[in-house]
Amino acid sequence: MFYISTRGQTRPHTFTEAVEAGLAPDGGLFLPEHLPDISGRLAGWAELAYAELAAEFFQIFAPDIPAEEWRALTRQAYARFDSPEVAPLRKLDDKTYVLELWHGPTLAFKDFALQLLGLLYKRQVRLTGKKLAVLGATSGDTGSAAIHGCMGQDGIRIFILYPNGRVAPLQERQMACTGADNVFAIPVPGTFDDAQRVVKDCFGDSDFTARVNLSAVNSINIARVLAQCVYYIHAWLRLPEEARTAAEFVVPTGNFGNVLAGWLAHRMGMPCGGFRVATNQNDILCRFFESGDYRQGDVHPSHAPSMDIQAASNFERYLYYLVHGDQLRVRELMQRMKAGQHVTLPKVDLGFRASRMDDAVIEETIARVWKEHAYVVDPHTACAFTDMAPDRVSVVLSTASPAKFPEVVARATGAEPLHPSLETLKDKPLQTHPLAAEAEAVKSFIEGNL
Ligand SMILES: *Cc1c(COP(=O)(O)O)cnc(C)c1O
Repeated sequence: MFYISTRGQTRPHTFTEAVEAGLAPDGGLFLPEHLPDISGRLAGWAELAYAELAAEFFQIFAPDIPAEEWRALTRQAYARFDSPEVAPLRKLDDKTYVLELWHGPTLAFKDFALQLLGLLYKRQVRLTGKKLAVLGATSGDTGSAAIHGCMGQDGIRIFILYPNGRVAPLQERQMACTGADNVFAIPVPGTFDDAQRVVKDCFGDSDFTARVNLSAVNSINIARVLAQCVYYIHAWLRLPEEARTAAEFVVPTGNFGNVLAGWLAHRMGMPCGGFRVATNQNDILCRFFESGDYRQGDVHPSHAPSMDIQAASNFERYLYYLVHGDQLRVRELMQRMKAGQHVTLPKVDLGFRASRMDDAVIEETIARVWKEHAYVVDPHTACAFTDMAPDRVSVVLSTASPAKFPEVVARATGAEPLHPSLETLKDKPLQTHPLAAEAEAVKSFIEGNL
């Protein structure tokens, strides 16, 4: 199995090479050269525990890593989840299930991919003998999940930039209270875009990236998308058999990475009833699926900050399939989108519906779900609880623990949601390394801390 770029100007890469590169050299995103048919394997996977299923799945996509090693990697990656099922499927009523994706160390779904990616980085260090510096910018969840995937790993240093004062206090504590000496939480002045620009400038200096062996942690690594396919299959296998083929997965969406993974599993032969892209007031993807128009606006901060996105980075992978793998067309479309042009695409039904939820309604919805089901959802998950398909089962992907967003949840339900791992954080000293929002400052900090 090889990996090709959505833009068609990169030689085929092995899994290990594609993971190491992150972004394809031609600026595109990696995808498997073809999608395997897994439909014949599903029945045999029904009894597998989560980590075993993940190992079976990855052997198909990454035969360059031996099967025994995959079993060890996935076992270790999911050992730190605080539920024995790893991704438990809860039944709220006959028509509604919730897939809880927040039992990992940072209480959001990004742990599924980043716990594994941290171990893949560690493997790379072992094989090459070269130390690795991991650099990324975050608006909250990705940074803390990446840090928890890399902390304490020999040969790895991780540097995460975030906009000072603009991430949730608990998210900052998850990044800055680890006590690990290979973790550097770096607040910079400005917005997430400023932090992101500094990271891009650092990667623009190829002498520097080669010297410190710099690797990017962001939402576009193919390993992340594949790791996320697994929980869809795991959940699908746990639905009542008669509900499976019609079931609709409802996915709180920002960068389109989570829902894309489910859709790829579907294209590989997991028969389900489709997907609903649930957005907040930053509804560019909802408008796209309703009209075929892709028109970027300004980002409006919301109660569901991890979905405050106008340029969904994984959307390019969907485009590739939408234009039937015409890589020249993907290149043209991406150029036009990058220039801020308004793009209209053919409206074809590839199994997506879409919905949106304004901020005011998010709080009401948390209260309503609590009243109807005695179940507490976080503000991201709340965005899924609208426009439910009346005639079939819905599986709502719950992307974060309500305890990560205590203020809005407490206002809606009258009780502050608590989680033991967040409680212990509250007493730990905050260790941050504030820097100017300038590449030179960040580069010399990294060189001084290798
Ligand atoms: C990242 C994130 C999302 C959005 O996921 P995408 O893959 O970017 O669509 C939704 N909810 C939470 C809690 C997140 O951390």
